[in-house]
Amino acid sequence: EAEIQQFVASTPKSKSLQDEAAQYLPGGSSRGTAYFAPYPTFVDHAKGHYVYDVDGNRYLDFMINATTHIMGHAHPEIVEVLQEQAERGNSFSGPTEAQVRLAKNLCERVPSLETVRFTNSGTEGTMMAIRGARAFTGKHKIAKFEGGYHGSHEYVSVSVRPAAEDLGPDATIPVPEHPGQPPSITEDVITLPYNDLATSERIIREHGDELACVIMEVVSSSFGYLEGDEDFLRGMRAVTEELGIVLIFDEVQSFRVSPGGAQEMFGVIPDMTTFGKIIGGGMPVGAWGGRRDIMALFDPSEGAPLAHAGTFNANPMTMVAGEVVMNHLTPDVYERMNALGETLRAKLRAVFDELEVPAQVTGVASLFGIHFTDKEIVDYRSALSSDGDMTKALFTGLLNEGILIQTGGAGALNTLTTDEEVDALVDGYKAGGARGVR
Ligand code: PLP
Repeated sequence: EAEIQQFVASTPKSKSLQDEAAQYLPGGSSRGTAYFAPYPTFVDHAKGHYVYDVDGNRYLDFMINATTHIMGHAHPEIVEVLQEQAERGNSFSGPTEAQVRLAKNLCERVPSLETVRFTNSGTEGTMMAIRGARAFTGKHKIAKFEGGYHGSHEYVSVSVRPAAEDLGPDATIPVPEHPGQPPSITEDVITLPYNDLATSERIIREHGDELACVIMEVVSSSFGYLEGDEDFLRGMRAVTEELGIVLIFDEVQSFRVSPGGAQEMFGVIPDMTTFGKIIGGGMPVGAWGGRRDIMALFDPSEGAPLAHAGTFNANPMTMVAGEVVMNHLTPDVYERMNALGETLRAKLRAVFDELEVPAQVTGVASLFGIHFTDKEIVDYRSALSSDGDMTKALFTGLLNEGILIQTGGAGALNTLTTDEEVDALVDGYKAGGARGVR
């Protein structure tokens, strides 16, 4: 309560904007995940490490628009190419050279990527990858993991945040995420338990004849960037390959862990991959790609049984900004950023130990997740044991210390991050984040 009062006292302009906004936009905005109670801070601008709100407060940003801004905010090189492109026209029906360069860059660095297509969001990327898998296999069911988020379209909006009481003992109960979804959706979507190879494999085998694809993350964003066990990942690859099921790795977030994404880091190669976030330099973006024979279904010169339309696909602003990012991300840059991630996770663990707060710190490379529980985090079920009130207190406490993380207690570093920002987050936790959770 005291934290909320402090927040409200320092954000009067945001409060009045929120009151006005709520008249025209349900909840005051068009964003779901960036909302927090009592209202989100309205952003004035952002630069480098920091976001500045309309009340003049400055926040050290580990939210970086859901892991997107891997070079920090408004990087001069990105600003320059965007300005140049704006002068030359900001969207065309025809393709551009920049699109070819970005596609080539991605195909050269991602082990499984033979060809790729761009969309405007990760949501569209996963939707198109699933459509491709269905057409290619001639089968219609899809499998996803309980707790897995792959965007907001219908077929992945199943068991995204199922309540504990909705989870069956063998994890086979798919739960529609939204009121009004057709009940038939749960006939076409099968849910699996993450990091549980035996159960997942059994369920996949039961439905093998009808399953077009399994969509999954190698590093699970919604459980605090928890990685899949080696045996689990290899087992998923083996069983899908054996049964002719397309394995889709959703790397919308995890692509930032290494030059070739999580598939390269963990050495497991899917049939298809989806992308988003960092590959557009902060502009709206998504992509999907993979095996040439599957992607050929989208090739108009081959008769294209599958249409992929979209007025803004491969927008030139997005392509030029994405190209700057991908050129910037050389192996040494990942090495430095990922080492800092390791340092941050170790320091956070030490603080929780020191303060005797029961907490788990998860994450890979430049990603971190905080869970207030004494249970080891291995899957969605164990992540559910985290204390939601403590997570909220952490978020608001850090906000009052001028630090922004994701509302769920996770965050990401960027290429500008140094030990100074890592220590600021740790100190911020000691000072403010801990107030509500001690
Ligand atoms: N897949 C994953 C793993 C994501 O984290 C997200 C977004 O957070 C998406 C897909 C959807 O991407 P977008 O928000 O660009 O539609």
